[in-house]
Amino acid sequence: MYKSHVYLKVHLNLSSKLYVMFDNMKHLKLIIIGLLFLSKSLLAQEKHCATEMSTTQIVKLRNFQSELDQNKNLLKKAEIQYIPLQFHITGTDQGVGYFKIESVLQALCDINNDFTQTGFRFYLNGPIKYIDNSDFYRGDIEAIYNTVEDYKSAGAVNVFFQGTGNQWCGVYFPDVDVVFVLNRCQGTNATTLTHELGHFFGLPHTFYGWEGGGRPSEFYVEKLDGSNCRDAGDGFCDTKADYVSDRWSCPLAYNLQDPNGIFFKPDSSIYMSYSSDVCQGRFSLEQQLAMQSDLNSRNIAKSPVNSDTLNPPKAIYPSELDSNLNPKAVQLVWEKVPGAYAYYVQAARFGAWEFLNFETITEDTQAIAKLYGTWSYSWRVKAITKANPCGQYSEPKSFSTKEVLSGIQDIRFENGFKFYPNPAQINRDIQLISKTDGILKVSDLSGKTILESDIKAGLENVIQIRKSGIFILQFINENGTYTSRVVCEE
Ligand SMILES: [Zn+2]
Repeated sequence: MYKSHVYLKVHLNLSSKLYVMFDNMKHLKLIIIGLLFLSKSLLAQEKHCATEMSTTQIVKLRNFQSELDQNKNLLKKAEIQYIPLQFHITGTDQGVGYFKIESVLQALCDINNDFTQTGFRFYLNGPIKYIDNSDFYRGDIEAIYNTVEDYKSAGAVNVFFQGTGNQWCGVYFPDVDVVFVLNRCQGTNATTLTHELGHFFGLPHTFYGWEGGGRPSEFYVEKLDGSNCRDAGDGFCDTKADYVSDRWSCPLAYNLQDPNGIFFKPDSSIYMSYSSDVCQGRFSLEQQLAMQSDLNSRNIAKSPVNSDTLNPPKAIYPSELDSNLNPKAVQLVWEKVPGAYAYYVQAARFGAWEFLNFETITEDTQAIAKLYGTWSYSWRVKAITKANPCGQYSEPKSFSTKEVLSGIQDIRFENGFKFYPNPAQINRDIQLISKTDGILKVSDLSGKTILESDIKAGLENVIQIRKSGIFILQFINENGTYTSRVVCEE
């Protein structure tokens, strides 16, 4: 199924080239030969990018490029274009294998950086959507074509992250207008998504016509002197000739030779080439103009959204070196940051951030981390705006957890005192066990005392808390003060 699909697309692709670029029949034979070469080689699956431009895209592009020559519509937009982007994280049917939220936010920072010159600023269309679908997770083309419309967000660029599959690092499907990116191909400073968004906005590869190791007919081999730059390759006259359809590190290890016999190396800096991610850093001016034109025709740009870089929130709780917290529900609390759209918070054992144990995005100023075991953890949080999740994290804070016996949520026995359960429930008994007499004070996070009670040595002490939230519990006896927190849930 996949192969026949590819073949069909190649056919359409070249027929459109025929339609748009040729009124001269003498080239027809050459094109057909080129077509045979190209389709044969495309059947070998590509590792980097599997995008094939649609007929509509090619027609649109060629029309735009002819306008470039007639000096029409050449005004580069001065103002920033705000583009809603919907991220979808796919997992297996069992809900396994999600891409990290942190990586998704990093991808948004990276594409906004890469598109700065173009004037495009992408922003979160809404919360990241999770899809448990093994077909999507492995990039099954038939499933994507048949059902992806059910998952798309209207009026936004839709980007799906998938976990496995070896057909591509990234792909844009023009017919269903979605981008799929393999998780492992979108690490920090990767350009996979940038490249695929270039396709989304109508750009071909710089080596257009050479995809899959094929060689186009002679007419389409771009010359270094620019004499056929509108007809050959990507049709842009400010991108250099490029014949390389395998991934390559820069500079190219060997020389290419153009039809005039001139040796050269292709330009590795263009995102639409197949040079390594580290080599790439720009779209050419004509490519930028073409994407702006495509964006205008799509009508998806929206009014400006907040793209400020926000200062990190102040982490409140757990405070530094809190110990023996119940790992099943560690409440993380921070201060509100004005202008924040949401907060991204994460926790990791020993602060090894590359191995996260917990992460979430929330509009609230607290989150419950479900952790495990008796470990030292660190946590940190950052405030984000829709178009800018790129600010600094708060200073990491450490705490430790203590696994408790099953059936008992939390038992503390320090300074001769323990209580349970924790988290407690509103208006339900919290049992306090003490070896000594003393005084118990319960206060809220602002320091206001909400409850004070005498504690007798023994097992019979019970209190109840009448509202939900986090409270400071202090037990004071002749030996000193024992402080802990109790979470009270609805
Ligand atoms: Zn591509």
